[in-house]
Amino acid sequence: MKINPRKLKISLSLKIILGMILGLGFGIFSVTFGLANFVSNWIAPIGEIFVRLLKMLAIPIILTSMIKGIYDLRTVKGLKKIAISVISFYLITTIIAVSIGVIFAIGLKPGEVFPEDKQQLLIQKYSEKSNENPIEKQKPLQFLVDIVPDNIFSASSKNSSMLQIIFFSVLTGIAILSLKEEKTKSVRLFIDSANDIVLKLVEIIMSFAPLGVFALIAGVICYISGESTDGTIALLKSLGFYAGCVILGLLTLILIIYPIILKLFSKINIKYFFKGILPAQLTAFSTSSSAATLPVTKKCVDQNLNTDQRISSFVLPIGATVNMDGTSLYQAVAAVFIAQVFGMDLGIMELLTIILTATLASIGAAAVPGAGMIILLIVLNSVNIPAEGLALIFAVDRPLDMLRTTVNITGDSVCAVTMNRYFKDTLGV
Ligand code: ASP
Repeated sequence: MKINPRKLKISLSLKIILGMILGLGFGIFSVTFGLANFVSNWIAPIGEIFVRLLKMLAIPIILTSMIKGIYDLRTVKGLKKIAISVISFYLITTIIAVSIGVIFAIGLKPGEVFPEDKQQLLIQKYSEKSNENPIEKQKPLQFLVDIVPDNIFSASSKNSSMLQIIFFSVLTGIAILSLKEEKTKSVRLFIDSANDIVLKLVEIIMSFAPLGVFALIAGVICYISGESTDGTIALLKSLGFYAGCVILGLLTLILIIYPIILKLFSKINIKYFFKGILPAQLTAFSTSSSAATLPVTKKCVDQNLNTDQRISSFVLPIGATVNMDGTSLYQAVAAVFIAQVFGMDLGIMELLTIILTATLASIGAAAVPGAGMIILLIVLNSVNIPAEGLALIFAVDRPLDMLRTTVNITGDSVCAVTMNRYFKDTLGV
C-alpha cells in the first residue's frame, strides 16, 4: 500500500500541542522521580533559547513591518483613519475586560473565603521575595513619558522599549509617506527586503516551536512544583477560588465577547479564526510574552486569516504592547480580591478608579512574563490597597500569566481581522 506523504504531514499547531502534552507529562514524571534539577539544568534552557530566538525578532519585526505597513498605506489620511479606529477598539475592549473582571470579583467574592492564617504566611513569603526583587513604584502617567525615546539606538537595544520603537517607526513611516516617492525609493526597497528576511526567520524559528514548547512546559511544571514543596500546595488550594475567578473572566472574553465582536464586525467564521491563530495562542501560552509571540501572531493573522499585511503590521505591534485585555481583567480581579482579603469595602468610586487605572496600567505593562503583576501596584496604590497584597497572588501568577497572555494576543488578532474588513478595500492594491 502506498502512503501519501502529504497526509502524514502534521500541522504545526498539532506538533506544538504534542510538544505541550509531552512537556507536561515529562514535567510531572521528573517531579515525581526527583528529576526536577535535571530538567532545570538540561531541559529548561532549550525553552529559554526558543523564547530568546522569538524575542530576538521582536524589534526587527516592528521596525521593518511597521514602517513598511505605514508607507504602504499610501496616505497620511488613510493612516489617521485606521489609527483612530484601532485605538478606539483597543480602549473599548480593555474597558469591557476590566469591567468583566470587576463584576466577577464582586459577584463571586473570592477574597472572602481566604483563610486568615494563610494570609499571614503569604505576606511573610512575599516580603522575602520582594526583598530579592524590589518592585519599583510607578506614576500612572509615566508610561506616556516612556513612549518617547531619547536615543533610538539605545531604545532598539532593549525589548522593554518596544513602545518607543513603535513611536519611532510610526514617525518614520509618516516621514516617508510625506516625501516624494522617488526620494525614498531606495529606503523602501531596503525595508521591503529586510521585512521578507525577518518573516523567513520567523518561519525558521517556528519550526523549532514544538521542541521549545516541550522544554518550556516541562520547566514550568518543575518550577511550580519546586515552589510547592514547603506546604505551598495547601496555599495554592486557598488561591484556587481567586484563580478560578480570573480564568472564568478570561473564558468569558475568549468564548463570548470575542466571538460576538467577530460575528458582528469582522464577519469572519469564528472556527476559522480560532483555528488560524492557534499556533500563536499556543506560543503565547508557553512563553507568557506577547512580545515574544508577536512574530508568530503576525504570521498567523497574515497567512492563515488572510489579513492585509499593511493592516496587521500596524495593528499587531501596537496591540502586543498596549492592548492587554487578559492582563487588565486579571488586574481588576486581583485588586478586588486583595481588598476583600484585607477586609476593605470598595465603593462605586473605588471600583471606577480600579477600572480606569487597570485600563491605563495594562497599556503601560510590558509584553513580558510577570509584567502584569508588577504593574498591578499602580492599581493597588490608586485605591490604597496595601501593596503587601501582591503576596497573596504570587504563587499562582505564572499559570495565570500563561492564560492572560493567550487572551492578550487573541484580542489583538480580533482587532486585526476586524480592521481588515473595514479598511482592506479602502487601501487599494
Ligand atoms: N505576560 C503578559 C504579556 O506579555 C503581560 C502580563 O500580564 O504579565 O502579554
